[in-house]
Amino acid sequence: MGADQFLAMNGGDGYQSYAKNSAFQRGATEVAKEIIEEEISNKLDIEELSSTSPNIIRIADFGCSTGPNTFHAMQIIVETMKKKIETQLSVSHQMPEFQVFFNDRTSNDFNTLFATLPQNKQYYAAGVPGSFYVRHFPKASLHFAYSSCSLHWLSEVPKEVVDPSSPAWNKGKILYYGDKNEVFNAYAAQFAKDLDSFLKARAEELVFGGLMALLVGSEPNHTKYASYTTFPSLELLGSCLIDLAKEGLFDMAKVDSFNLPTYFPSPNELKALIERNQDFSIERMEILNHPPKRFTTPDSKSFALFIRAFIEGLLQIHFGIEIMDELFRRYEEKVEETKLLSNPNENSMTTFVLLKCKRMT
Ligand code: SAH
Repeated sequence: MGADQFLAMNGGDGYQSYAKNSAFQRGATEVAKEIIEEEISNKLDIEELSSTSPNIIRIADFGCSTGPNTFHAMQIIVETMKKKIETQLSVSHQMPEFQVFFNDRTSNDFNTLFATLPQNKQYYAAGVPGSFYVRHFPKASLHFAYSSCSLHWLSEVPKEVVDPSSPAWNKGKILYYGDKNEVFNAYAAQFAKDLDSFLKARAEELVFGGLMALLVGSEPNHTKYASYTTFPSLELLGSCLIDLAKEGLFDMAKVDSFNLPTYFPSPNELKALIERNQDFSIERMEILNHPPKRFTTPDSKSFALFIRAFIEGLLQIHFGIEIMDELFRRYEEKVEETKLLSNPNENSMTTFVLLKCKRMT
């Protein structure tokens, strides 16, 4: 099974769906709203953009999922651009038309996305299926690219971490939260390679002067993650899988061969990787003030649903659909018992980066 098939968030709009359990991700967009508005107003050069593609502005959201967060983000971008254009263009110019492309993996529930498109949207909508680590648009055809809470998904699990003969074998763990540097390095290298592919593809697709806003799930520093929820919460999930294996629901080897294809770079690491790519200038970069408690009810039930909505697809393929209810029942219990959510430092980090395309095509 290719990565494209297994990565989808939970579809539909039922109580276990991504659509109903993504208030946390919505929070990141909410906090970034002001910055995006400010940056579009200051940095988007409408004259320059309209010279490359008269009267159509094309925007793409990479890793949009099913909504509703993507609709909210696209509305912010389109409305701000319209305001800017109204003030900048002379009366003889017509307001351009807007086209928004919603990209995600082919396994994404695009039906739910299309069925719930806002009725009053001010743009033409289109779906663009397939991994954002490759090109999807003609050269120099996009004016604004956006990606939120998606770039931590790697294109694949680094091969070494599931290879028993490798020093990076991540036995008994589902992410790089252990103390093996080899495991961490394998994940970091995969992220660097993937981000490079992402930036190269977008540099070809964006017009000269086009902007790209990235909201990237981050960690301050992988050795100091104790006060952040990402690793403890996934480690806890790993421990539930180990419990189930010990009880004989599946073989322990299944846990050893399962690793999450996710990596959360530190802001400095992200900056250095972007700077390696010569096609973009960093126009703004900051850590979003995004305490999840502002946006989600921090109870164990909703937390378990939040984790389940984005991870279940992967787990089902590997461990089987039959154990999912039991796994997440136990997970919820452990979140409660370990007081995961009562840590006063409970926090998570999202880094905002605004890039400008300097590539002449
Ligand atoms: N941007 C939305 C959704 C974030 S969830 C929000 O802020 O709420 C992350 C999304 O990224 C998922 O829908 C997942 O399927 C998608 N994704 C992960 N890897 C991808 C890839 N390589 N190409 C396209 N989409 C990807």
